Order: sequence, then C-alpha cells, then structure tokens
Amino acid sequence: MKTVRAPQGYQAKPGYLAGKNILVTGAGDGIGRAAAKTYADHGATVLLLGRTASKLEAVYDEIEAAGNAKPAIIEMDLSSAPPQSYLNLADALAAEFDHLDGLLHNAALLGERTPLNNASYDKWQEVMHVNVNAQFILTQALMPLLQQAPSASIVLTSSGVGREGRAYWGAYAVSKFATEGYMQILAQELENTSRIRVNSLNPKGTNTAMRRSAYPAENPSNNPSPDDIMGVYLFLMSDDSLGVTGQAFDAR
Ligand code: NDP
Repeated sequence: MKTVRAPQGYQAKPGYLAGKNILVTGAGDGIGRAAAKTYADHGATVLLLGRTASKLEAVYDEIEAAGNAKPAIIEMDLSSAPPQSYLNLADALAAEFDHLDGLLHNAALLGERTPLNNASYDKWQEVMHVNVNAQFILTQALMPLLQQAPSASIVLTSSGVGREGRAYWGAYAVSKFATEGYMQILAQELENTSRIRVNSLNPKGTNTAMRRSAYPAENPSNNPSPDDIMGVYLFLMSDDSLGVTGQAFDAR
C-alpha cells in the first residue's frame, strides 16, 4: 500500500480551527485525548465520545480550564451501543450544531495477541465491532451533519499491522486492513459528490496504554508521546488539507 508521510513539523496558526465542530472517538485517553485537546486549543468545539465518563469529564475540565470553547461529552460504549443509539446521537447533535466539520475515528481495542487458530470468536467479534462496524454506523449516522459543513474531514486511525500483516496480531490487524479498505471506498464515493475528504492515519508507535500493553517489554519513553504527533492530526482537520482524500498517512 502506498503511504504518505505527514508534512513534518506542521503547525496550525492559533485559532485555525475556530468555528469547526470536531467529534473524536476514544477522546478520554491516549491519542484521542491529545487530539481533542489540541483541536480545542486551536479553536474547535470538540465532541468527546468515549465509554468512561470519568475520563471524558477530566478532558472536558482541562479544555474548559484552558479557556477554550465548551466541549460536549458523549458517553457511549461502541462495543454494545445498538444501531438506534447512533441515530439518536445524530438527532441530538443536529439539535445543537448545524454542521460537523471533523470526525476522528480513533477508539479501538487491541484484543488478543494470539495465533488465528487459537483466537476466541467472541473477542474477535468485539474487536471487529469496535474497530470496524462502529466506524461504519457512526459515519453513516453523522453523514447529514458532515454534508452541512463547508468542508469536512473524516480521519480513520490505522496501524502498521493494517498495512502489512503480522503474525499474532489477529483481529486487530484484520480490523485495520478493513479500515483502510473502508477509507478507500468512502473517499472514492464522496470525492465528486460532496465536500468531504476521507483519509487514514497510522500514528505509529506512540506512548499510550495500548502501546504499553502491546509491548510490555519496551521502554515506553522510547516512543513519542501523543502530544508529539499532533501535527498531522491538525493538518488533516485543517483547511490546509482541503482536496486531500483517499490517502493513507503515516504520522512520521
Ligand atoms: P488507548 O487504548 O490509549 O486509547 C483508546 C481509546 O479508545 C480509549 O479512550 C478507550 O476508552 C477508547 N475505547 C476503546 N474501546 C471503546 C469502546 N468500546 N467504546 C468507546 N471508546 C472505546 O489507545 P491509543 O491512544 O494508543 O490508540 C488510539 C488509536 O491509535 C487506536 O485506533 C489504535 O489502534 C491506533 N494506534 C495506536 C498506536 C500506538 O502506538 N499507540 C500505533 C498504531 C495505531 P477507555 O479509556 O475508556 O478504555
């Protein structure tokens, strides 16, 4: 798969995302938390979706304490939320916001690290549901609001193991391959019929709970922090990436 390296050292001007409404999934921790705070620092109103209320509230408080636009909290467990709850969410957002400029699909489960032959079907299904199906349902539900934006950006989070298979990475790797395929199809379908761009982004090894659990023997500080990789996350949500669609980005 041909990948694109993010513009190195990209920095958005202060207030560059002002007026934009951006929804981040998995906003309570790790990369999603950093992205939500970064978007808010640049003027966006952020919608914080996640499954752990206390984590979302902490991010909310930090954004408010920084004097940024008041965020919104969407407590939702993507592994169990029924399809109707996505439609209810879309209705609730439409009552509050007249458009959605950005959708960062970031939430994911690592699942089991085991040979495919030993993998549990239940755990396989949960990973595929959170990492793939939920992205599809959420995007479909929010499409009318995305269509209302002057231009909108959908970013799907990939991984190195979603671009080249690796033994023992099981459902997680398969879910990231599916994410790349979904990105390519959606980008093509929207390219000439909308003002919505769709790209995937591989953050690469980043010091988060997921990375520490996947690589317990690794020194966590050998990897950049989520804050260190925010340039490409900003680029893809800013108007500097207008016209960029169907691309598979690497954060570095
Ligand atoms: P974390 O595990 O630190 O954060 C994942 C976030 O997703 C958490 O906030 C978590 O919520 C949320 N989440 C998980 N399951 C659900 C669910 N069922 N419903 C709602 N929210 C959920 O991971 P990272 O920040 O490291 O990962 C972010 C993205 O980057 C993922 O897509 C991952 O696959 C990808 N990635 C990460 C790499 C890395 O090195 N860190 C490398 C390559 C890709 P909670 O906190 O409540 O558990």
